[in-house]
Amino acid sequence: MTDAPNYGFDTLQIHAGARPDPATGARQTPIYQSTAYVFRDADHAAALFNLQEVGYIYSRLTNPTVAVLQERVATLEGGVGAVCCSSGHAAQIMALFPLMQPGNNVVVSTRLYGGSITQFSQTIKRFGWSAKFVDFEDLAAVEAAVDDDTRAIFCESVANPGGYVTDLPSISAIADKVGLPLIVDNTSATPYLCRPIEHGATLVVHSMTKYLTGNGSVTGGVVVDSGKFDWSASDKFPSLSAPEPAYHGLKFHETFGPLAFTFHGIAIGLRDLGMTLNPQAAHYTLMGIETLSLRMERHCENAQKIAGWLEGNDHVEAVTYAGLDSSPYKARGEKICPKGTGGLFTVALKGGYDSCVKFVDSLNLFSHVANLGDARSLVIHPASTTHRQLTEEQQVAAGAGPNVVRISIGIENAEDLIADLEQALAASA
Ligand SMILES: *Cc1c(COP(=O)(O)O)cnc(C)c1O
Repeated sequence: MTDAPNYGFDTLQIHAGARPDPATGARQTPIYQSTAYVFRDADHAAALFNLQEVGYIYSRLTNPTVAVLQERVATLEGGVGAVCCSSGHAAQIMALFPLMQPGNNVVVSTRLYGGSITQFSQTIKRFGWSAKFVDFEDLAAVEAAVDDDTRAIFCESVANPGGYVTDLPSISAIADKVGLPLIVDNTSATPYLCRPIEHGATLVVHSMTKYLTGNGSVTGGVVVDSGKFDWSASDKFPSLSAPEPAYHGLKFHETFGPLAFTFHGIAIGLRDLGMTLNPQAAHYTLMGIETLSLRMERHCENAQKIAGWLEGNDHVEAVTYAGLDSSPYKARGEKICPKGTGGLFTVALKGGYDSCVKFVDSLNLFSHVANLGDARSLVIHPASTTHRQLTEEQQVAAGAGPNVVRISIGIENAEDLIADLEQALAASA
């Protein structure tokens, strides 16, 4: 793409980061299915290994197809750089890795994707890290949870399993006040509906598995850096501000400025943790992103119609979609996601746990799967699946109590989806 900073989102989702292949003129970004790249000579190789010159060495670190995707997502999110990884969960570890030492903690929202709650409450302990879960509606509690060992604040923009919009401007004001980076998982909203960096986020993470690819074909993740955080303002982030022994004492922040986090993510994170995205997955995700805005508009339009219809159904106790007048988060959603709050919401059934199981089993067009953000409509009962590892208290705090079904509305005809929901609700009673 030629440098033209004022292109709109629809243009950038197709062109950002890409240019005709210099070797062949290929218009679509080729899948560079190559592990290694020939050095011009020994000096070139040495410069690359010393991080004195940017280029391709080995595909665990960088790959030309993946690089296009990195630039595309960074552009759409308004960041300075991005690191793609093998999954959304890998992206979360890659986001925390440069920030955290053993003994450090991260303050996280209780309203998160079930897998993230497990990753933060259990698995990160193996690294000597911990998470403090806080209700992010209670701003005083968020600030009070921050202590001398806290290194980041983490939340989702539109939280999975749906219907909750985080007050990003208020949370980022707290992060600024205490001098910590705010990490926002923007999976459910996508940069088309919400751009967390504009609301003060330092880093944005995605499961590209979901809406960015958009058709349930790929597992991938990405960390985008705003380039705005001053890693040297305190001694809390030595990985970025202090000399790095693995690179002859190089200081990432001093050397790479706003790109410090991105360079660290590649040169240390991908090099040594190896959670790399493969080029074929990057290609599928690039193709998905070309239609992101069109799909998100339809996801929102369908979700709005269907959530409204469900709210009037006799078997339904409540629907949590931030686009509904009944939602306490409607006004906030209009501010933070002015084009809509996505395709994800939950429905609570009057019949409880057993009704939910019958409802899910009776659907025909909706698929019962552990995924979301697909072109096709999906459904899951979190309490018996994704949130099964949690206590009932954690389930309720995460918006995934026993009588709650999570629905990911696809881009099919809304009438067909409503007809399927109607017959399954009748069968569930
Ligand atoms: C799916 C998801 C993840 C995890 O992503 P994977 O690609 O499955 O590893 C993290 N956060 C949110 C909000 C998700 O929906």
